[in-house]
Amino acid sequence: MNIKQIAQKNLSKVVEHRRFLHRIPELAFSEEKTAAYVTDCLNKLPLDLRTGIAGYGVVGFLDTGRPGLNLLIRADMDALPITEKTGRPFSSTNDGVMHACGHDAHMAMVLTAAKIICELSDQLSGTVRFVFQPAEEGPGGALPMIEEGVMKNPAVDYSVGCHVWPDIPEGTIGVRDGVLMAAMDQFDLTVIGKGGHGAYPHQCVDALEIGCQVVGALQRITSRHINPLTPTVVTVGSFHAGTVFNVIPDTATMSGTTRTFDREVWDSWPSRLEKIIAGICNAMDAQYEFKFEKGFPPLINDPEMTRVVRRCAEATVGKEQTLVPNPSMGAEDMAYFLERSKGCFFCLGTGRENGSPIHNARFDFNEKILATGVEMYCRTALDLLG
Ligand SMILES: [Zn+2]
Ligand SMILES: [Zn+2]
Repeated sequence: MNIKQIAQKNLSKVVEHRRFLHRIPELAFSEEKTAAYVTDCLNKLPLDLRTGIAGYGVVGFLDTGRPGLNLLIRADMDALPITEKTGRPFSSTNDGVMHACGHDAHMAMVLTAAKIICELSDQLSGTVRFVFQPAEEGPGGALPMIEEGVMKNPAVDYSVGCHVWPDIPEGTIGVRDGVLMAAMDQFDLTVIGKGGHGAYPHQCVDALEIGCQVVGALQRITSRHINPLTPTVVTVGSFHAGTVFNVIPDTATMSGTTRTFDREVWDSWPSRLEKIIAGICNAMDAQYEFKFEKGFPPLINDPEMTRVVRRCAEATVGKEQTLVPNPSMGAEDMAYFLERSKGCFFCLGTGRENGSPIHNARFDFNEKILATGVEMYCRTALDLLG
């Protein structure tokens, strides 16, 4: 049997994994049942197992006993605080939590690929580690797992992972050299003014009105300060101030996110934001508290590993179905693995015909694509270690 036939033969297995995991979604850093299932499946394979890494992270390690390259294959484990509305018979049994980002699919594909790669291990040299990572949706489990040594002993040479991708059609694979996803950060701001009667603004420092000025001015970073050829996003996603129509509030609080593909811009966000906040608050006699938390780095695919993955994609779905997807302002902590090895994160096309976008209560996809992902991982292992 060739690798495509082997992957197709395992379609019912990968679907079974996906449906089981879909029923038991768990939020970031609470992936207890998920980790138990993953551990149970990996335990049946000839792998060295490490569990409880950075919370509920799991790694299965395959040593072929022959010297060679060291490959890392990664899946993420966590779900989202969304109430599922797909109506599928295997819907979430954990109220208010749903695998709406396809991480159930990611795990199912790596579990199935692990089984096949173990079966093919006498054709391979080097090592493969199957990494199941908690908390991708934030605050991020990749970096804490790396800090616990999952990329060491021996050091990882190549890494690969994928995400289900509704923006490209079902049956296609997206492979992009270089930057694919953005650096992501969070900021929190409290504007501190002086409250009072709505009829006496001259006796107050109106935190609400100053907060509004800040929101407007922050948008000018992207439109006026940064080169228009360098894409960026500044979003204020929450804003709270005031309680009643005739009282000027003391404080306004807001939080938001910044996105960029550019490392220099990434480093400059805190000072760019604070300059504007300080300037406005100063001019308006307000105080402020500002906190900027750097998030995931930009996700950048290595050219050499991208060539390997593209070759595997062309063998899996054909040249015409192998696309170059547009970069996304979304973020992914797979980026940390890619910073420390030659890696490629590819996009598994789901299209929109069978469901809504990710992070949506109706997100779903045709489960046939799971065999495609399994085949991709097997081919990548055979290409590098075969
Ligand atoms: Zn997500
Ligand atoms: Zn995701």
